[in-house]
Amino acid sequence: MISASQSARVIEFPCIPWKLDDGGIHPEKGSWTLTPQSLRELRPEIEALLCCPNCSAVMPFAKLPTDDIDRKHQTGVLTRRDLQCKCGLLFTAKLLDWDKRRLYCVAYETFRGLEIVPHKEYLHAETDVQARYFFEQGHVRERYNIVGIAPVVGYFADEKDRDAKRLMVD
Ligand SMILES: [Zn+2]
Repeated sequence: MISASQSARVIEFPCIPWKLDDGGIHPEKGSWTLTPQSLRELRPEIEALLCCPNCSAVMPFAKLPTDDIDRKHQTGVLTRRDLQCKCGLLFTAKLLDWDKRRLYCVAYETFRGLEIVPHKEYLHAETDVQARYFFEQGHVRERYNIVGIAPVVGYFADEKDRDAKRLMVD
């Protein structure tokens, strides 16, 4: 381990919904995004993904009790010190809008022959309309039917609820 550097750069990461499609996830360099549902099912502790501003590597991010969340900012800014990317970049990350965007769930169906296949996808947005827009951006080449879009209750509300067992869709 490399010891904490006092000269580590402070890098701000805006919250951007990365596009998802058949080819996987498309990271936006220098931003963070909420963990897509497919990954969260496998690794529920991973709450976010960061994309290195230097080399574009994707870093899984699990919130720690030592992380500082500045709630003087209305939208919450999370600070994590001494993150190091595999490219060697050592930095203090500030994740902007940590709790500004709400988590939305989009329930939708795709079609496999005559069979209807139900899906749920989680994404963050500020409104239902924005959630629909982001979803559509990520599924441009698919045929689907949106069944419903609703905010997920409680995901960011209780930091002790780390297993997110109280995830609900209204
Ligand atoms: Zn890097």
